[in-house]
Amino acid sequence: MSACPNTLIDTAVCAPLPVLGRDVTVPLVTGGEVTYAALDYAASAPALQRVWDDVAAYAPYYGSVHRGAGYLSQLSTDLFENSRATVAEFLDCRADDQVVFTRSTTDSLNLLASALPEGCQVFVFETEHHASLLPWGDGARVTCLDAPRTPEQAVTTLERALADRDPYGPALVCVTGASNVTGELWPVRELAAAAHAHGARIVLDAAQLAPHHPVSVQELDVDWVAFSGHKLYAPFGSGVLAGRADWLRAAKPYLAGGGASRTVARRPDGAVDVEWHTTAARHEAGSPNVIGVYAIASACKALTEAGFDSLVAREQSLVSAVRTGLAAIPEVTVLSLFGDEAPRVGVISFVVQGWNSSHFAAALSAEYGIGVRDGLFCAHPLVRTLLGSDPQDPGECGAPEAAPGEKSLNAIRVSFGAGT
Ligand code: PLP
Repeated sequence: MSACPNTLIDTAVCAPLPVLGRDVTVPLVTGGEVTYAALDYAASAPALQRVWDDVAAYAPYYGSVHRGAGYLSQLSTDLFENSRATVAEFLDCRADDQVVFTRSTTDSLNLLASALPEGCQVFVFETEHHASLLPWGDGARVTCLDAPRTPEQAVTTLERALADRDPYGPALVCVTGASNVTGELWPVRELAAAAHAHGARIVLDAAQLAPHHPVSVQELDVDWVAFSGHKLYAPFGSGVLAGRADWLRAAKPYLAGGGASRTVARRPDGAVDVEWHTTAARHEAGSPNVIGVYAIASACKALTEAGFDSLVAREQSLVSAVRTGLAAIPEVTVLSLFGDEAPRVGVISFVVQGWNSSHFAAALSAEYGIGVRDGLFCAHPLVRTLLGSDPQDPGECGAPEAAPGEKSLNAIRVSFGAGT
C-alpha cells in the first residue's frame, strides 16, 4: 500500500472527528493499492466512528417503538423520543416546534410541500438543489427567481418578488443554507427577515449547512429546517423536518397508516372514521427507522461536543489550502456565484480547461484513489449558469464531452468536513 501524496489527505490522520473507512484501500490502474481518499462528503459523509459505536451498543436492545409493552420496546421508544429532543436542541428549535423524522432532506421538503395551505405561493431561486426546487409543483404556484450574483441581490430579488404577490394568501420561501455546488453560504437570516416582512414563511434546506455550521432556528428565524442524516455523519435512511407545528398539524398525514392515527373506527355504513395525531407522529406512519434516528441524534451530539468553533476553523484551513492549490493551476477555474471572497463551507467545484470533467474525476479515482463527484450535482440551472451555458436549456444529464477549446458542460466537485 503506498501513501497518498495529496497533502490534504495526509491531514486526515488528525481529523477531529474520526470516521469509518479511513483505512480502506482501493486498486489503482497503474497497479498496486492506495488508501482511499473520500472527498465527496457533500454527497454522503462517512459515518463517524462514534455514531457507529453508539448504534452497535444499542443494536442488541432495539425493539418496536410506540407499540410494545416489553422492556426493549419501552427502551427503544425512550431512545427514539430522546433523539427527537436531541435534534430539537441541536437545531435550537422553539419550544412549540415539531421535529418530524423522515427519510432525507428530499423527503422532508416533499412532506412540507404536501402540507402547504390552500393557495400557497412558493418562491425559490433557480440556484437551488433539485430537492428544494422541485417538490412544490410547477405552474402558477411556484415563482422561480433568477440566480443572484451577490448575497444582497438575493435579498432584493426576493423582496421584489414578494412585494408583487397576493398579500393576503399564504406564501413560502425555500432557500438553501450552503450551496452543494459552490459551498457558498446564503444570507439566510436576511432572507428570513424579508420573507416575514412580507407575510411569507421560510424553510431552510440545511443539507449542506448543518454538517459544517451550527444551525439555530431561533437565531436565523426560519420557520422550518430540513436536513439528511447521511450528510451529517450518520448512515443513510433518516432525515429531519423541524419547525412550526401549525401547517403540519392542519395537513393531511404524509402517509396514511398506523402510528399516524390516534383512533380508527368502522362506521355502520362501512366507511372508516380516523382521528389523526396532531403531534409529529401524524407524518410518521409505519414503523420508523429507529436505528437511523438514533444515529442522527448521536451525530448531533458528537458535533456539538466536538464544538463547531474548532470544526469550522479547521475546515476553513482546508478550504484555503484546496483553493490556494487550485488557484496555482492555470487550467483550473473554481466556480462561484458570489465571488472569490464569499464565505463558504468545504464544497468546491471547478473545471479544468481541456478536460471533460467526468474523465478528470474518473482519472482521480483510477490513478490516485481520490473519490470526488462530477456532473451537474442535482442543481442543473445553477451549474449551467456558473459554466456560462443557458440555465433554461433542458440539455442532458451526464454531460457530453466538450470539444477542445469549448466550454465545459459539467464540473468536478471536492467536498470534505469535520471527519476529513
Ligand atoms: N439539498 C441540498 C443542498 C443537497 O446538497 C442535497 C443532496 O445533495 C439535498 C438537498 C438532498 O438530500 P437527500 O438526497 O439526502 O435527500
